[in-house]
Amino acid sequence: MTSLKRILVTGGAGFLGSHLCERLLAQGHDVICLDNFFTSQKSNVLHLLSNPNFELIRHDVTVPIFLEVDEIFNLACPAAPGHYQFNPIKTMKTSVMGAINVLGMAKRCRARILQASTSEIYGDPEIHPQPETYRGCVNTLGPRACYDEGKRAAETLFMDYHRHNGVDVRLVRIFNTYGPRMHPYDGRVISNFIRQALTGEDITIFGDGSQTRSFCYRDDLVEGMIRMMDHEEPEGFTGPVNLGNPHEFTIKQLAELVLEMIDTKSKIVYRPLPMDDPTQRKPDITLAKKYLNWEPTIQLREGLQKTIDWFKSIRMTDYRPPTPHY
Ligand code: NAD
Ligand code: UDP
Repeated sequence: MTSLKRILVTGGAGFLGSHLCERLLAQGHDVICLDNFFTSQKSNVLHLLSNPNFELIRHDVTVPIFLEVDEIFNLACPAAPGHYQFNPIKTMKTSVMGAINVLGMAKRCRARILQASTSEIYGDPEIHPQPETYRGCVNTLGPRACYDEGKRAAETLFMDYHRHNGVDVRLVRIFNTYGPRMHPYDGRVISNFIRQALTGEDITIFGDGSQTRSFCYRDDLVEGMIRMMDHEEPEGFTGPVNLGNPHEFTIKQLAELVLEMIDTKSKIVYRPLPMDDPTQRKPDITLAKKYLNWEPTIQLREGLQKTIDWFKSIRMTDYRPPTPHY
């Protein structure tokens, strides 16, 4: 039987965070959702506000906060390239100062803490698929570095708090994840293609579309995060552990699939490839299978259908493009 806990989810109003809050509430836990709404809006958690076990705090993780909790999921950070490049210095502050603040809280409260790290720490990988032992190939000077290096520094802080202060840490490296509640203007490839197809805009492929990504459906990903947080054996398994769907697609294949699934007059157009855009990405999930008995259950077509249905159910005008980069 699960014992009930007080759980803090930073970035809890976001795409992944709001679903995580829902799942934790359904397990009967007390959930504190902390968010500054930089890339999200209250509508993502509106349906949770009437739950007495749910509490919403507008706060920026770069500023310390004192709460008493048993567990922390640290998700606060802009995740889409357009969002994190909008104010790159703030992105780095959010990853690094945010990590220091939540790790300090975990140390004080003796709380277990999980970091939402990313496949971006592998940069533009020379090894394929990427295992956790791969150390990555990141351009420290490029436009993606604020996110990649911020997340790398956060991993370092997590391991140092673990080694020096005995904090019980968990690291998950999340690969491209999609699903309902993605911000329609976040500029990520799945939200862009679906929004473009539904509104009859051209589908924008960056580069020639031969670059690959492996897309994980939201529910699978959140299940993996919870399993990693709850994992007890072997003693001291901190990760990092890759969480993602190992089925790999080219961006062109994705565009064609979206066009097949949505009745639209949209056509594919080609735009320049952004600097440092990784050419290939696919997780090696051997560790997740072994330690967490986890692997994705929802494949791309099924997950896309659920995402398309959700995009059809919202009024896109209710969503403010948070940055000009969409
Ligand atoms: P998201 O942008 O929807 O969620 C991030 C949330 O963090 C938002 O609600 C945002 O308002 C909040 N936030 C940003 N800066 C903050 C700050 N300074 N203080 C408080 N809140 C702040 O993105 P998401 O896809 O749900 O990503 C959640 C986490 O998972 C992020 O840490 C991201 O790096 C990580 N991740 C996501 C993916 C993916 O494909 N979705 C892949 C790798 C890693
Ligand atoms: N991409 C694209 N068209 C778009 C948005 C993205 O071709 O309208 C490409 C992008 O260049 C990258 C891939 O799709 O190669 C995934 O981009 P996304 O921003 O979703 O995530 P990333 O994995 O690059 O962080």
